[in-house]
This record gives sequence, structure tokens and C-alpha cells, in this order.
Amino acid sequence: MDPSSDLGEVILVGGGPGDPDLLTVGGRRALREADVVLYDRLAPLASLAETRPDAVLVDVGKIPRGSQTPQSDINALLIEHARAGRRVVRFKGGDPFVFGRGSEEWLACAEAGVPVRVIPGVSSAIAGPELAGIPLTHRGLTQNFSVVSGHVGPNHPASTVNWDALARSSGTIVILMGVAHLAEICAGLVERGLDAHTPAAVVAKAALPDQLVLYSTVGSLPSLAEQAGIEPPALTVIGAVVGLRLTST
Ligand code: SAH
Repeated sequence: MDPSSDLGEVILVGGGPGDPDLLTVGGRRALREADVVLYDRLAPLASLAETRPDAVLVDVGKIPRGSQTPQSDINALLIEHARAGRRVVRFKGGDPFVFGRGSEEWLACAEAGVPVRVIPGVSSAIAGPELAGIPLTHRGLTQNFSVVSGHVGPNHPASTVNWDALARSSGTIVILMGVAHLAEICAGLVERGLDAHTPAAVVAKAALPDQLVLYSTVGSLPSLAEQAGIEPPALTVIGAVVGLRLTST
């Protein structure tokens, strides 16, 4: 007998940046068929209404002890439910493989012998700027973009980003998880050669009803964001493309 026949499966579903309309058709189907859904605050929570009435919904931001669930606990829960024969959806914001530790969840399942697959999602790194009227590339202006984690800034020894190269990359820079270190990041880029007048914007709560966009320059953006009381989730986009500010009027 196939020893895996009683196993359920884990599906890592990218939910997009927060608006249920930006969930893929495949992601929505997986959600509707799930026995168990493990979600966190960045997933489009309104889409949880799509789940079966008997589906078990677990907010992995809240269990088992307070605000921060260790990743190892989430991995263990995914494996435990799948081993009990359940269809498990790990419902995440944006795309599972853009930060957010989806690849760690995949590896943990694979190492445990649990079937796992991923349904890509619309990343906030791309949709966020787009919803603010900022294309990441534009013919004749910018031919490349980089998506960077700002959870540690350029002065932090744990940052593995080549900030010198980034400052001189001539492309668009998108910073996720960078609210706390925005001043250090912007100053660090300018110190490394980026023009302080380069257009820059913060897009907070992209795709959500209270989306907020601040347009500025890389030199002035941190103080503007602080004055506005910007809180996560928010992203920063830096580059000539920010100056385009596409609007429909
Ligand atoms: N996998 C996700 C990113 C996870 S890291 C994705 O592809 O979008 C978490 C960071 O994503 C946040 O700190 C923030 O920078 C960004 N983010 C996620 N949702 C967002 C939203 N609705 N608006 C703005 N930024 C968002």
C-alpha cells in the first residue's frame, strides 16, 4: 500500500495584497475546497468568507502564544493537519515566494514527506506601486527593478543586500518591510550615490479601502512618512518611474 495515501496536502496560496479581487482563480478554488486554512493578517481576510462552513480557520498570527507565532509552529501545524488527511491551505498575503517565508514552509512539508504545492499570488511589490500609478519599468526610462527587504537597513550587520550596487543600479527600487528603517535606508542609498532628488513614494495598505500614497523624493520621504504616521503594511518605491504618476484624468 502506498504509505502516502492517507496524507492530505498543503497548498501555499498567494492571496494578493489584500483585495479579494486580486486573488487568483486557482487560489480561490483551493480556499473553497480546504478543510483547514492557516492565515495571517496580510492575506485578503474578506476572502475567508469563501471557505466551507465546516472548514477550520486558524489565525497563525495569534496562536499559540500571543502576537508572533514562531515559524516552526506554523510549519508543524501544516504538517500535522496534512498527516491527518486534510486539505490544508496556507493563505498568505501577496506571493508566497516573495519574502513571507513560503519557501521555508514548502521545505518543511517536503522534508516531512507531506505533498505540497504553491499557487502564486499577485505580489504587493508589484501591485502596490501599480495601484499608486507607478509602473516598475517604463520604456525609455527604466529597464530594471529590485525588490529588497528593509527589515534590516544598510547599517545593520545582518543585511545581505549590496546597498552600494543598489544605489547605483539605475533601476526602480521597491522596499518591503521597511517602515521602521525608512530613514536609514533612504540616507544609506543617498550616501552611496543615489541622487537625493530621485522621486520616491510610500504606498501603505495597498489594495485595501484605506490605501494611502505619499509622493516625495528619496531625501524627503522619511520625514513625510513619519509626519503622516505611516504604519505597516507599507512599501516604498524609489526611482524615476515614481515621477510618472499615471492617473486616468
Ligand atoms: N509575500 C508578500 C510580502 C510579505 S513581506 C508579497 O508578495 O506581497 C510583508 C511586507 O509586504 C510588508 O511589510 C509590506 O512591505 C508588504 N505588503 C504586504 N501587503 C501590503 C499591502 N497591502 N500594502 C503595502 N505593502 C504591503
